[in-house]
Amino acid sequence: MTDKEKITVLDMRVAGKQYKEISAELGIEVSALKVFVHRQKHKDVRRCEQCKKVLPKDARKTQRFCSDKCRNDWWYSHQGEIQGERLNTFICAVCGKGFTSYKQAKYCSRACFYASRRS
Ligand SMILES: [Zn+2]
Ligand SMILES: [Zn+2]
Repeated sequence: MTDKEKITVLDMRVAGKQYKEISAELGIEVSALKVFVHRQKHKDVRRCEQCKKVLPKDARKTQRFCSDKCRNDWWYSHQGEIQGERLNTFICAVCGKGFTSYKQAKYCSRACFYASRRS
């Protein structure tokens, strides 16, 4: 197995693929895959916290993401947690659409907010 194949195997496992599927895709024996993945569990493999890709071996200790994009995506999706707030689901009082917001909200959009004012 090449390093690239190893990373692919781990990525596919994270994505929930069966050994059989990985075997078919990469042409590696299922038994070899199992041994490899089992061994990896005992190793300290660090992964991007956003996309779960394996970080390169020479990644800095403080590195948590494989790319700036992943870091931004992560911060974006965890904004509420960082502020100690939870993402809640609400139903818009005007159009009845479901939407999510960190703050208490009644309307899904500015348009609906203004529509509520007008009526
Ligand atoms: Zn990533
Ligand atoms: Zn609405």
